[in-house]
Amino acid sequence: MPNAKVLSPGEQVAQRTITSYTLTPAQMVKSEGLYRTGIVLSFAYPALELAIVVAILWTRFGARLQRLAERASRNRFVQACVFVPLLMLVFSLLELPLEMYSHHLSLAYGLSVQRWGGWFWDQAKSAGLSIPVITLCLWGIYAAIRKTRRWWLRGWVVSMPIMAIMFFLSPVLIDPIFNRFNPLQATNPELTTQLQSLAHGSGLEIPKSRIFLMHASDKVTTYNAYVTGFGATKRIVVWDTTARDMTVPQTLFVFGHEMGHYVMHHIYLIMALFAVGMFAGFWLVSVLVPWMIERWGAGWGVATLGDWASLPLLIGVVTVLSFISAPLDSTISRQMEHAADAYGLQATIPVTPDAHQVAAQSFQLLGEKSFSYPEPSRLYVIWHYSHPPIAERIRFVLGNEK
Ligand SMILES: [Zn+2]
Repeated sequence: MPNAKVLSPGEQVAQRTITSYTLTPAQMVKSEGLYRTGIVLSFAYPALELAIVVAILWTRFGARLQRLAERASRNRFVQACVFVPLLMLVFSLLELPLEMYSHHLSLAYGLSVQRWGGWFWDQAKSAGLSIPVITLCLWGIYAAIRKTRRWWLRGWVVSMPIMAIMFFLSPVLIDPIFNRFNPLQATNPELTTQLQSLAHGSGLEIPKSRIFLMHASDKVTTYNAYVTGFGATKRIVVWDTTARDMTVPQTLFVFGHEMGHYVMHHIYLIMALFAVGMFAGFWLVSVLVPWMIERWGAGWGVATLGDWASLPLLIGVVTVLSFISAPLDSTISRQMEHAADAYGLQATIPVTPDAHQVAAQSFQLLGEKSFSYPEPSRLYVIWHYSHPPIAERIRFVLGNEK
């Protein structure tokens, strides 16, 4: 009798012996297209943001918006509620075509299956969440600016608990607004037990209630799993695409990688690094922006840093600073990801026969699913890659590197 069973992508790749990351000619064409467009987009985003800032400054739009806010009320909080949302709306509308192009690309390459209606709804939801929070934060920051020269230190101190609260609440309050989550136990009880016993084998007790399945297939075709939250909200999330397409040993490796992030407390490390980055950012802004206003402020209609009209300039400086600091952020991230790869491999060796090969197969599958480019330029990797390139990860797990 012929075997009518259709093999899952994971089972298909499991029939191969992976010695290096390879793509079929058809996949390679897509991969090159995505890689090139990705490079252009990575420059286009900050360039567009800066162009908007320059246009706002040249046309003195910020000053006009400030007069509008001041006419609305003498109360600074009311002014913030007028100025900040309107300015954010201008940025969002002008950036919308690029965002749409990006989503169009994901659809065209088959990475996304989210229809435009749902996509626009997601954009609206994220604006609805971020606008009130940012308005409130900026109201506080501008109040501090008008009160003390050390506003940046005060702003940084206050932003720390806000950041911690966001990290803590986002898995329970924010993430469910965009995606559906269920305990993995409900749909994949066997897999959950195996994941738990893998964790147990590494001396880690992860309760079943901390392992979630995310219904990513509503929106995307790619694979992922991640660790999020801390303390009472810390959890491991596996995308349903991963659980559906990967074999159990492959999923165990992916889970082992995530366990690495969990065990090595990468979330706390990220928060600490974020705090350091924010400190430097606040201080640099407090030095650079007043200096720029002194030199060119008159032409832009910005009298002092305490004016609402200085906000576009602040945004411009932050954009430049984050572009400059991107290599540092990415390099730290790649280091953590590499450490998690090493952890995942070590964790699966005792339970998975030929764990090195299974890990390589997982990466091969991950790479070909998202058309990850086999040989990205070193400079681009340093600037933008949050994970080591797939080819490098495969070489590592096969033991050909480090
Ligand atoms: Zn990771």
